[in-house]
This record gives sequence, structure tokens and C-alpha cells, in this order.
Amino acid sequence: MVGAQPYDIEALKIEPKPVLDACGERLACDLCGKKTKFFCYFCCRPVPQLAGKIPQIRLPFKMDVIKHARELDGKSTAVHAKIIAPEDIEIITYSDTCLDDVDPSRTALLFPGPDAQDISELDASTFDRVIVIDGTWSQAKGMVHNSIKLRRMQKVTVKPRRTRFWRYQNLDDSFMATIEAIYFLYRDSFKNGEYDGEYDALMYFYKYFYDFIQMRTRAH
Ligand SMILES: [Zn+2]
Repeated sequence: MVGAQPYDIEALKIEPKPVLDACGERLACDLCGKKTKFFCYFCCRPVPQLAGKIPQIRLPFKMDVIKHARELDGKSTAVHAKIIAPEDIEIITYSDTCLDDVDPSRTALLFPGPDAQDISELDASTFDRVIVIDGTWSQAKGMVHNSIKLRRMQKVTVKPRRTRFWRYQNLDDSFMATIEAIYFLYRDSFKNGEYDGEYDALMYFYKYFYDFIQMRTRAH
């Protein structure tokens, strides 16, 4: 995409390395018992050894991340947001009833298109919740096509940034990872003076994995 600017991942006001490096081996999730590193992708919880050591933040509006029921890759970066802001982020599997409690007149949907408004220009008093669809572009289009509720929501976008996501480097690099889109939705909505890293913690695990891959790539 023309105009997609790279962003400076090193400028984020977070320091995940000391904490996460100290958490060396895979540990059991205290809910499902699965051995995992840092957090459980199924229960969306940090391993008990990390409780109290990773940042926990509140966000200015609620977010539901809707996963496609057939999304087989369980390792979505959206889980990072749920771990860091558990009270404001929900991760939901798409079904006919998953939006029953959602008021479409007070909910915005992250979905690009000619009728979408940039989140920075959206009046914060017009919505309390944002929905993000976590899936391929064709899955997202299918969900919106099949849901009257999703179609009725006001559409929002974020300015494209050149992705830092190692897994997508062979694709169009303005295709952001879900956690990047979530982070910039909150960051671009910030209107209380100058942004000073208030939501950077959303990128806590992402930055750690990013730095890890960079280091390994350089070593080879
Ligand atoms: Zn678990």
C-alpha cells in the first residue's frame, strides 16, 4: 500500500526482555494444565509465574476480537491484548449468537472500505466498543456479509503502517498483525493531550518476539 510508514518498535515504552527471559522453560497453565511459554493461547492467561510481573492496563473502550470458527491456527497475536488488558478485551469465536449482547448503534467495526472513518477522526462519544475480526480477509468479508448486525455498525480504519511481523514479510508489508492493528486503534484514538506510551503494553509480547527473531536472524 502506498504511504504505509514503518513505525519505530524500539521507541515503545516497554521492557519485556528481563521479565520474559527469566521465564525460561515451558510451564503448566493453571487452568488447563497445558505446558506453555509465557501464556496459554487457549485460556488467554499468563502462566502463574508471570502473574504480577507483566503490565496490566485499562483501555478507553471495550474490544471484542472475533475469531473465525475455522481458524485452525490458534496462535493469534490478539491473545497478547487479552493477557495485558483482560478487563477490556474479549476473544470470541464467531457464531450466529456471538453478537447477541452487542448494540450495533454503539459499536464500531474495524473494516476498511470507502465508508470507513479513521479512528482518530471518530467522535469518542459515539461508541463504547470496537469489534476486530481476526481472520483472513475473505473470512472477514464473509462474516460481515452474513451478519446484519456487523453491517449496521459504523466502520473504522487505522492508518496503514508497514508491518513488523516476521511471518508476513513475503506478503504486502502494510498487512499488519492483529495485535498491531489493535494497538494502533487505541493509540490513534488517544485524544488526551500528547500520547505518552499509555497503551504500549499491548505490544509487550509482540516486541519480545520481534526482538528475538531479529537477534536470531542476525546471528545466522
Ligand atoms: Zn490453559
